[in-house]
Formats: sequence, C-alpha cells, structure tokens
Amino acid sequence: QTKLKAKAEDAYPDWKANTPVPYAALCTTFSLIEITTKRLLITEYCALFLRQVLRLTPEDFLPTVLLMINKLAPDYAGIELGIGESLIMKAIGETTGRSLQVIKADQKEIGDLGLVAVKSRSTQPTMFKPKPLTVRGVHKGLMEVATVTGNGAQGRKVDLIKKLLSAADAHSTSRVDISKDKGGPSEAKYLVRFLEGKLRLGLAERTVLVSIAQAVLSHELEQKGTTPTTNQIEEAEALLKSVFSELPSWDVIIPAMVNNGIMNLKDTCKLRPGVPLKPMLAKPTKAITEVLDRFENQTFTCEYKYDGERAQIHYVAKDRSDDYIEALPDATKEAANGIASIFSRNSEDLSKKYPDILAKLDTWIKEGTKSFVLDCETVAWDITEKKVLPFQQLMTRKKKDVKVEEVKVKVCVFAFDLLFLNGKAVVEKSLRERRELLHGAFNPVEGEFAFATHMNGQELEEIQVFLDESVRASCEGLMVKMLDGSESGYEPSKRSRNWLKIKKDYLSGVGDSLDLVVLGAYHGKGKRTSVYGAFLLACYNAASDTYETVCNIGTGFSEQVLEDLHKQLSDIVIDRPKPFYSHSSGGQHQPDVWFEPRYVWEVKTADLTLSPRYKAGCKEGVDPSGEKGISLRFPRFIKVRDDKKPDEATSSRQVAEMYRKQESVTKGPSVDDDF
Ligand code: ATP
Repeated sequence: QTKLKAKAEDAYPDWKANTPVPYAALCTTFSLIEITTKRLLITEYCALFLRQVLRLTPEDFLPTVLLMINKLAPDYAGIELGIGESLIMKAIGETTGRSLQVIKADQKEIGDLGLVAVKSRSTQPTMFKPKPLTVRGVHKGLMEVATVTGNGAQGRKVDLIKKLLSAADAHSTSRVDISKDKGGPSEAKYLVRFLEGKLRLGLAERTVLVSIAQAVLSHELEQKGTTPTTNQIEEAEALLKSVFSELPSWDVIIPAMVNNGIMNLKDTCKLRPGVPLKPMLAKPTKAITEVLDRFENQTFTCEYKYDGERAQIHYVAKDRSDDYIEALPDATKEAANGIASIFSRNSEDLSKKYPDILAKLDTWIKEGTKSFVLDCETVAWDITEKKVLPFQQLMTRKKKDVKVEEVKVKVCVFAFDLLFLNGKAVVEKSLRERRELLHGAFNPVEGEFAFATHMNGQELEEIQVFLDESVRASCEGLMVKMLDGSESGYEPSKRSRNWLKIKKDYLSGVGDSLDLVVLGAYHGKGKRTSVYGAFLLACYNAASDTYETVCNIGTGFSEQVLEDLHKQLSDIVIDRPKPFYSHSSGGQHQPDVWFEPRYVWEVKTADLTLSPRYKAGCKEGVDPSGEKGISLRFPRFIKVRDDKKPDEATSSRQVAEMYRKQESVTKGPSVDDDF
C-alpha cells in the first residue's frame, strides 16, 4: 500500500505546474481506486490526487471533482448526457473501425462497455497522434455531448464522443502498471463508463467530499509549513459536509474554498435561493404507539401527509437590494435578484411544469416578505368541490413547457416548512419557530396556497382521530415531527428520526412502500402476449453502487399501464445485464429482457422474506450464510416515481432495516438518505 501511495503521488510524470491536468493522470488514480475496496485507501488516493491538482493546476479543481463524481454540473442545472448503450457502442465501433456486430458480441461476452472499449482500442493501429486528453477538455467535450439539441442531435452526439475516444490512450505515459485485468488506467474505459453514468469505482460523492476536505486543508497548511492534525481534518470534513448540505453545488463551493480557504466557507457559502437543497425525509412507522415511544418526553406535532409532489419554492423579490444581496460574491449578485423557481425532491427544476404557481407567488406573500425558500407539496385540486384530488390526477399534468392559460389540473400548494426568510437561513431554528415565521410571511388563498393542517395534541386518541380526518381529507396519513429544541431543526438530505410518517396502509403492511428500479421483464402470456407480463425489480446498494434484485412483480397493473410501460421500456432494452446488477445466476431465474436502470416504481408488499433467488441486502448480513437475499412477498405495483432517479431508489440498507423490523425509529441516529 505504501508503494502504491508513492506511485499515486508520482503517477503521471508529464504533468507540469500551470498546465491542464492530464486526463490520463486522473485515470491512473481511478485505476488505483478500482483495485481496492478499502474506503480509507480510496479516500486517500482521491485526496492525494486532488492535492496534486491544487499544487499544480488549481483552476482545474472543479472539473476534476466533477469527473470524479460522474457529473457535469449540479442536478438543478438539468444537464443530462441523454445517450444509451447503443449510441456508445456505435461510437466505439466507428472510432476503432470495428463493426457494430463485433462490438455487440464483445459486449455480450464481456458485459462491461468500458472493457469493450479497451479491447477495441488495442486492435487498432495508431495512424496519427491526437493531442492528449485533459481533464478540462474531457469535461468540456462531455458538456457538448450533453447540450446538443435539435435535428440530428443523436448523430452529432456520436461524433463528439468519437472525437474524445479517438484521442483516448494515445499518450499513455503513466508509470503505474496496475489492474491489467480490469483494463488498467485506460482513458477509453473511464470515458465510456462516464457516458454510461457509472464509473464503478465505489467512489460515492460523500467519499469525494471527505477527500476534498483533506486535500484542501493539507494544501493550505502545507503552504504555511505545517500538516493538519486529526482534529483539524475532522473539523474541516464536518464543516464541508454541513456547507454542502445547505448549498449542494460544487460550482459555488469550490471557487470559494480555493480562494478564501476551507475554514472560511461558511462566510460565503450558505443556503441561498436559487440553489436547491436535498430535502429532509422521514422514517416510516407502523403504529401510533411507535411514534409515542420515539417522542417520549418530547413535544411533537402532527401534520397531514399530502399525496402530491414535493416542491421547494425559491423566491427573491425583484426589487431586492439589501444586506443579503450585498453579502453575496459580486458575480452572483445580479442573478440573485428576482428569483422564482420551483425544484423537485431530487433538485430538478420544475419551473416549466408549474408556471401557474410561480405566477401567483407575489399574491401569496405578506408585505415585508422579500425572499424565501419554502418546503411544500403540490396537490391536485378540485375547484368545484374545493378539495384535494388523488395523486393520479396530478400525474396527468404536462411536465414541460406548460402554459398558464392551458392548465387543466389545478394545483394547491400546501406549505409545511420554511428554510430561508428575508436573507437568512432559518434551518437551525426549532420547527415551532419556523412554523411561526411561515405563518407570519404568507397569506393563504383558498385552492391556491395553504398551510399544512396540523395538530399539536400529544395523546394517542387525539392522533388516531387526526389520522382518520387526514384520510377523509384524501391524504396519505400523517407526518409527525419533533416540535421544539435543536433536534427539531431542518436536516437537509437526512432521513431523520425527528420526522416520522404514518401512512394509512402501513398499519397493516410492512411499514412502508418501496421505490424500486426496473431491471428486466418477462414476456406476457395469454391476454398479455403483446406486452411484458411481469418485471424484475431491484433496490440500490449505495456502498457498492450496484442494483440488487428484490422481486418479480406482475400485480397491480391495468392493461393500459402495461401497454404504456411496454412502449417506454422497449426503448431501453439492453443485450445483457449490466455488470452492476446483482442477481442470482440460476438460468431459470433470468428475465426475458434486460433494461438500462432508468425507471423507479413504487411497490407495496405484504411481507419480506429470504430467498436464494434475490440479492437484496445480501451484504447487510441478513442471512448468516450470505447466500440468500431479501425478497418481497405479494408485491403490488402502485405508481411510477418520476421524481426519483435510480440511485434514489430504496436502498439495500433500508430493505434490510425493514426486514429486521428493528425499532429503527426508537434507536440509532439519523442517517444521510439512502446510504
Ligand atoms: P413517500 O413515498 O412516503 O413520499 P419519500 O421517500 O418520497 O416517500 P418520505 O420522507 O418517506 O419521502 O415522506 C415524506 C414525503 O411526504 C415528502 O417527501 C413530501 O413529498 C410528502 N409530504 C406530504 N405532506 C407532508 C408534510 N406535512 N410534511 C413533510 N412531508 C410531507
């Protein structure tokens, strides 16, 4: 290990100070990471490399971090590569002069397109030497791939990918000769994997975050002639984590950190309208008594749990000119004036879906409310009956380019939390205080804007009555939240035990529905021959970045839904399972078709059981032999979760937690969501 570390520091001899970071240097680091599963070592490799970037080419720090976390920009920028396996195969084929058929055959045999790219390269003689790839060049090139639009976009995307691939590995002078069986530090391999959306290094964003803190602090202290102590490192990591949870944008944080030092981040990098934060989430409970146990001796409050779409509304009045704007870095001042945006649960910009909401914001605020970030639920609203409509109604709304005058399904916004008000973050205040501020800042308007109905009674009977009322009011059940004290602060991105949910149907089931990724399907029989009749679903293991199968499902679909799903899924069929799918290898258990991991479905189950056929939770120690995974008994399809990405599906750890039926609500700390 010491030798490898020494090699990591000296991985790329051609990289000179003040020249762009060679992409090959980053790939060398990737391949060092790829051969280990030890988190500490992975963090160290990352930190060593980032420190080298700070020493030699600090202006490339941001693109380096982005390529490490397999992203081109923050989620709210809405930048997607928009390419599937077939386009990548086409590009590999055309770059290397191999036919698509051969590439497909290789992919069938090897199963990892990155390695197919490596194999394809080595058969191609080099005719000329293109310029070596650089980190900033690769980032720019991939950005171009993502932003191509209009007629012939797919073809142009292939051309841009070809340009990158043909320059890959032309100048490999890395001294590190490692992981040959895994394709070595090949640029083509990691380019292709980036395009596929999975570097497969076990390098979660949180690990990179820790490495960033270590690298930046060590670099800062190195310049002062010292090295950081363990305490200092821990302090820097905690600070960066807290800053990132309020302002999850490396585009903003990195320049601030490089210019002003990591320990000064809080001065300029705070929650700010325009940058969505990951919402706080709740833990499931199965009974009101469980809630009472959890909140013993503490005050809590119950709110209706509305069944719509989570929305985070960001607003800054147009005429704003005060301390808040003044305190922002110059470059962001102008953009911060006059913001009206709405973001989804996973930080996608929903402004084009809800122009009707944005148009009314000014009419809901009280005088003196100049800026805010609001946490709320948009719910379909019946204007004649003046009541909430089921979630399915909301789903029929157009998702993009909605015109206010054409809106058919009206929505009412139910606000339940306030994160920012008049220039200041209020997340650290107690829920009681936040609620007071919320009620003081807005005017409810019937059928347009309301505060979530709440009740502060602490007795079991009162809660039962309130739960029944919520169900009669077409809600899913209740949210029960800590009301006072520091524990009742808003915890961005946490699935917290300070927020509990009681759904009306939990009371009989396993506790919660699951959100699972569709990996495969079986052809229908009888009446269903033209569609898929059943599907293979998986949960997500964030630690190993794999999808672990958890059930087959064929119940809960209407004929129409099956037809729609068939159409949707046919576009993402792949020849064989991705290498990051974990499923039993038994021949009789294989689905007829496999899919790219794209869609997340909400599923209910009667029960959880162990089965050798599935892999969910295998690594969580639920089965001492390690052979059986957890599976759902009698799973039933509820709905498609458009607001969740595959890696936001229910995690293996959550499935294991449900299986063990531990009193997760009464024990253990809040954990970062789905990890
Ligand atoms: P679910 O399927 O239950 O929505 P989830 O993983 O999206 O699961 P949870 O934390 O489990 O989110 O449940 C909270 C969700 O309930 C929020 O994301 C929000 O959309 C919705 N919700 C409705 N009413 C409230 C409320 N009063 N307070 C908080 N969240 C609410």
